[in-house]
Amino acid sequence: VSFDVIVVGVGGHGAAALAHIARRGLKVLGLERFGIPHAQGSSHGLNRLLRVAYGEGAIYVPIVRRARELWLELSRAAGEELFVPTGSLDVGYPDRLTVPRALASCRAHGLAHDMMDAAETMRRFPGWRLDADQVALFQPDGGLVRTERSILAHARLALAAGAEIRANTPVSRIEEMIGGGARVVTSRGVFEAGQVVVSAGAYLPRLVPALARISEVRRIPVGWFAPRDPALYAPDRFPVWTLDSPLGEFYGVPLDQGHPGVKLGGPSSGDQPGRWIADPETVDRRPTPVDEAPLAAALARHLPGAAGPALDVQSGLITWTPDGHFVIDRAPGQPSTLVVSACSGHGFKFTPVIGEIVADLIAGARPRHDLAPFRLSRFEAFA
Ligand SMILES: Cc1cc2nc3c(=O)[nH]c(=O)nc-3n(C[C@H](O)[C@H](O)[C@H](O)COP(=O)(O)OP(=O)(O)OC[C@H]3O[C@@H](n4cnc5c(N)ncnc54)[C@H](O)[C@@H]3O)c2cc1C
Repeated sequence: VSFDVIVVGVGGHGAAALAHIARRGLKVLGLERFGIPHAQGSSHGLNRLLRVAYGEGAIYVPIVRRARELWLELSRAAGEELFVPTGSLDVGYPDRLTVPRALASCRAHGLAHDMMDAAETMRRFPGWRLDADQVALFQPDGGLVRTERSILAHARLALAAGAEIRANTPVSRIEEMIGGGARVVTSRGVFEAGQVVVSAGAYLPRLVPALARISEVRRIPVGWFAPRDPALYAPDRFPVWTLDSPLGEFYGVPLDQGHPGVKLGGPSSGDQPGRWIADPETVDRRPTPVDEAPLAAALARHLPGAAGPALDVQSGLITWTPDGHFVIDRAPGQPSTLVVSACSGHGFKFTPVIGEIVADLIAGARPRHDLAPFRLSRFEAFA
């Protein structure tokens, strides 16, 4: 069977790519190893943060602004709220890590923001308890995005625009064909396409082994805790947040989708990678006391009204590149195959804009964003 495009992996980015490609009238097939959605990859757990005051680099600000527009568009098209505007709060120190980086992005792009000392932060957001030397930066454009529901919405819109999706269909190989195009070998037959998009998340290094050199998969815990005072942690009083504290780096979201627990994740893996390395085929996804204890400690110190018993602890997988930036590029030696590895722990907010970027690249259109930071040639191994 022949398609214009095959998307391998219908998770966060694959579902978005499928919807954007189908909308342009191309014949497109999505192949997914598990169901849609599922909890074996990187995109489960109800929601993620969207911050516009982007600490990971000012280069992301125009892209995240476009993502925000597309989240609102997607919500309208899907008829449901998939982006909840809450603003974002970065809590930390004036001179290290997240706060100065987020502030630099605000200044570089003229974003509205408020810098607050500890007392003012606690007055404005009474769910928080800051140490006396901590400060916070509030930026009003942030919010939370809904993960499983947006994957379903993108899949629904893709199908309505004529895409095909085959779930429970693992891809074992992608072979370039002489004369162009690629053959995609699955457990349920072989498919051909002019172009292939590989958005396989943590499983990418197996499908495109050349990328194993620059991909490190990590197992990341998150937990939901019953708040003693739920009103303090509602979306209108409690923005999505990041925290730099003597206990480590954490992040979280307000109460959402009727879940009774306040969700947070961390401590972040950047500073101690070895401890977190995982193989998606063999990783133990079950929660451990080691996952839960740091989350509970961060709540007790900084969000005391949310520091009730754990209602759930889960783990997810992230795919880390050496510089923490995404890969959006042709696979080495495979000109028909476009690789989308937009993770490093901060990719979900970008899913709709990356769907749009992928559809532009597939169509040979000039990308609307500077994609140079995401090329493989930035790494010595591919220079
Ligand atoms: C705990 C945690 C917290 C995070 N917090 C944030 C946040 O606050 N904000 C943010 O923006 N990002 C955040 N991220 C990162 C974000 O969730 C990921 O970057 C994003 O989900 C990655 O999406 P993906 O499409 O690459 O992967 P996935 O959604 O996992 O999709 C990959 C898909 O490919 C499929 N697949 C793999 N191999 C094959 C194969 N051989 N054949 C067929 N299908 C295959 C998989 O089954 C899967 O469905 C967080 C991640 C984690 C784990």
